[in-house]
Amino acid sequence: ESAPRHHDVPRLPPDTTRAEFNQAIGELKQILGDQNVELNDRPLVDGWYLEHPNTHDAFHIALQEDLVSSAVVYPGTVEEVQTIVRWANKHKIPVYPISMGRNIGYGGTAPRVPGSVVVDLGRRMNRILNIDAENASCLVEPGVSYFALYEEIQRQKLPLWIDTPDVGGGSVLGNAIDRGVGYTPYGDHFANHCGLEIVLPNGELLRTGMGALEGKDGADNPTWQSFQPAYGPYSDGIFSQSNFGIVVRMGMWLMPETGHQSYLITFPRDEDFPAIIEIIRPLAQQRVLGNIPQLRHVIQELATTAQPKSAFHSSSGPIPRETIRQHASSLPVGDVSWVFYGTQYGDAASISSQLNLIEKAFGVIPGAQLRLPSDLPPEHYLHSRVSVCSGVPVLRELDWLNWVPNAAHLFFSPIVPTRGRDAEAVHNIVVRLHAKYGFDLFPTLCVAGREMHYIVNIVYDRASVDEKRRAAALMREMIAETAAEGYGEYRTHVLFADMVAATYSWGDNALMRFNETIKDALDPNGILAPGRNGIWPKRFRGKGWEI
Ligand code: ADP
Repeated sequence: ESAPRHHDVPRLPPDTTRAEFNQAIGELKQILGDQNVELNDRPLVDGWYLEHPNTHDAFHIALQEDLVSSAVVYPGTVEEVQTIVRWANKHKIPVYPISMGRNIGYGGTAPRVPGSVVVDLGRRMNRILNIDAENASCLVEPGVSYFALYEEIQRQKLPLWIDTPDVGGGSVLGNAIDRGVGYTPYGDHFANHCGLEIVLPNGELLRTGMGALEGKDGADNPTWQSFQPAYGPYSDGIFSQSNFGIVVRMGMWLMPETGHQSYLITFPRDEDFPAIIEIIRPLAQQRVLGNIPQLRHVIQELATTAQPKSAFHSSSGPIPRETIRQHASSLPVGDVSWVFYGTQYGDAASISSQLNLIEKAFGVIPGAQLRLPSDLPPEHYLHSRVSVCSGVPVLRELDWLNWVPNAAHLFFSPIVPTRGRDAEAVHNIVVRLHAKYGFDLFPTLCVAGREMHYIVNIVYDRASVDEKRRAAALMREMIAETAAEGYGEYRTHVLFADMVAATYSWGDNALMRFNETIKDALDPNGILAPGRNGIWPKRFRGKGWEI
């Protein structure tokens, strides 16, 4: 039901004949070199995280062919990105920029409009342009992964941390402009970026922030990576989660290394969920909590053992609560319900006083128990949180993909006030709909002082048409039901972008009309990532593309 229309002629851009396409691709090869333009003319291969395809969505939800590119191009310089954009305007061919395409669960490298030409920035534009140890910042190209940045900082022996998301193979730049998050005190990636360089849809080049002011003798501005807004409207925001430009450089702040202590707190009873949220709120608002902690249901203690679901439950359908209970009791955390993962920062004395406060606050919940990594066996998931929460990238989170055969996953991620009653309202919807569609529920709440990202990981078998259909139907129903209660997603898979964007409809869709006005002004030919985040350029609008 989620299949985009208009893909009856596969692997060609919309409104383009094979002959026109061949002619245009020939031109592109001439400018960029044969080796930097690849046609998508072979069978699609899903690969895996570190060898992911840039031809389609490896975690397909509808058909594998649905979100497919016609070709991939690899620019090596900013000038080449400008050239590609001008070429796209000339031929009216949509291009879809990706940094590294490890945006798994949100669409990966897949263009929203089938037959778009994917601009894979990451392969050749992968330089760390600068690390400024005094300013504690860096300037990177789209192809710099968390692993690469981490390794370079280690090589230079700098006392700096990066902030990595759960899995470290993605692009530092791509993740920040898609407003991804991590788990050190610098975990809000977009809030910690500083300065962008952008190729606009007409091929012009723009620097934001202090970068708009030339440095001495034409050098980069010395405060480009120091002060975010500079003068006038703060424009960076409109280049995040949008299709208004191709970001080719980004500044990012780095955190000076410090002491850290990760821990978990277990809670025995399911029904204490709202009370736990009520305790987290003031602790987060007072900034006693050192990072964005996670609250997870105990079912994830099973999933993070890297064993398949079949090791715990042999019949089909979701694992019953009783079965989770039985297996949890033989795991290190025991027969509990909710598990809170946190990390405190600073010197030993301040960490110890923070931990006392935290333990006391949660202590009002009967049976709450705090454990340190030293209390748990070396293979326990908490040890990988120690890495992530101190800026060391890992791949451990990929263990999810052992849960079912041919596993793929999809995220449902509404923003919810940090309040017990709101948490319960969303949780009840999600529990009911997971049961209706027959999926195990894996909730991870990333909790801040005023809101939390309630993230549900839907793990499905991508070889099963029925499971994919149910996963998509579950997504759509969760989006609709939570929106009716006033909760909206912070990010979504490309296939659900229209639906999520449409929930932000206050004032007769004032926000989308504003976005469309910007889109049409910057991209009159509608060549840049049409449909991304639900923003369609005039050329595509109202012609049946929205799903
Ligand atoms: P990551 O590998 O970090 O997950 P992606 O390359 O998948 O990042 O980026 C996430 C999404 O953000 C992409 O699907 C794309 O739509 C958008 N995006 C990524 N990089 C750029 C960029 N440099 N300019 C414009 N949009 C981008």
